[in-house]
Amino acid sequence: LLFAIMMVSMMFFMIPRASASANRIWAVLQTKPDIVDPVAEDAQASRTEYGQVEFRDVTFRYPGAETPALSHISFVARPGQVTAIIGGTGAGKSTLVNLIPRFYDVNEGVVLVGGVDVRAQTQSALRAKIGYVPQKSVLFSGTIADNIRAGRQDASDEEVRRAAEVAQAIEFIEEMPDGFASYIEQGGRNVSGGQKQRLAIARALAKQAPIYIFDDSFSALDFRTDARLRAALRDEVQEATVIIVAQRVSTVRDAHQIVVLDEGRIAGVGTHDELIDSCQVYREIVASQMAEGESA
Ligand code: ADP
Repeated sequence: LLFAIMMVSMMFFMIPRASASANRIWAVLQTKPDIVDPVAEDAQASRTEYGQVEFRDVTFRYPGAETPALSHISFVARPGQVTAIIGGTGAGKSTLVNLIPRFYDVNEGVVLVGGVDVRAQTQSALRAKIGYVPQKSVLFSGTIADNIRAGRQDASDEEVRRAAEVAQAIEFIEEMPDGFASYIEQGGRNVSGGQKQRLAIARALAKQAPIYIFDDSFSALDFRTDARLRAALRDEVQEATVIIVAQRVSTVRDAHQIVVLDEGRIAGVGTHDELIDSCQVYREIVASQMAEGESA
């Protein structure tokens, strides 16, 4: 009897909580997305197989914000090239790359992927072309192989391994007791920040997409791993459009073009040497990092 009374009194507390949770889930399910697909007959496939990314005079303001996070941004990221985005904290780097998979819609101007406005493509077709590594990547509970395969379910074992090699993850994976079958705990609690980033990079590479976006993905890596990863990336994805958001000059130095952002505006576009000659903001970034390096 005592047990039955305990159960009933527990339920007395659980029912209102369950009902509050159900209400919250219902509210989420009822949310109308801001981003909507074009109607089926208007949807356009991008014109080129390899995804050129182009910003044409793009201005973007977060809903409710007074000042735009990005103003009059124009540049082209070409297939076969690495385009790096650099700038101080809050300059608009993440915002800029988030417009490519159309996580937000621009207020003015246009973002084109494969020659077509992102708003004229279905989100699934657009995002299928982009291997995207967000600033904070999420690992699922499951094996290392499962986590890499989340990029593309039908990736073969060989492709999963190759992605891990390019991402410089192979060494630590092989040191784990079960290799690719090792279990990752929820949220990746049993791997370090740098290892998590490398697995997220491997996951994006397994997708074999024509466009890769790495949003500050290399900052958790030491300088040597960062350099090795970028060299392997250059060899592996020669035809892709690669966009790297970075804080460190060493990460962007050998990019084909560097876009320098300052308070939501483009301060300069060019190679490292060109920007050293022409862009005051870039020179200041270089100088501040050299000073940090010297004091370290
Ligand atoms: P960066 O990546 O260069 O550090 P962000 O793109 O994250 O810069 O941010 C650019 C500006 O937009 C900042 O002023 C930031 O506060 C603002 N911002 C970023 N994300 C949001 C958001 N979800 N809602 C409103 N403002 C945002």
